[in-house]
Amino acid sequence: MPESRIERLCVARGMKMTEQRRVVAQVLSNANDHPDVEEVYRRASKLDPRISIATVYRTVRLFEQSNFLERHNFGDGRSRYEKVTDHHHDHLIDVKSGTVIEFQNAEIEALQEEIAKHHGMKLVGHRLELYGVPLDKER
Ligand SMILES: [Zn+2]
Repeated sequence: MPESRIERLCVARGMKMTEQRRVVAQVLSNANDHPDVEEVYRRASKLDPRISIATVYRTVRLFEQSNFLERHNFGDGRSRYEKVTDHHHDHLIDVKSGTVIEFQNAEIEALQEEIAKHHGMKLVGHRLELYGVPLDKER
């Protein structure tokens, strides 16, 4: 198994890498979506059938606390994870299917800066989630 991005971050911090941590790091480094812990467990089990859900939970929490992962709540009460990258994006969630669309919008970004500035603040971060249902195409 090649060294994954999250594994490299762990090693750089001097964290001990067990085989199972390497598996979870691999799954999350390769994910291009927003899996919850159960889904991370399903994918990890394919790489290592001996891994337990408790280990996956613990490892995901460790990676989150180490700021390698961002945790999201997309309105269904389940925590979902994605790796932290330099590439900023916001999320549009289809509440019917649970599909998550990632988007970037320069006007929204600028507007948020402006709002913060208006209140005498410099923006250091934000989280934007839009919730929707598919448009009725019959009309
Ligand atoms: Zn995302």
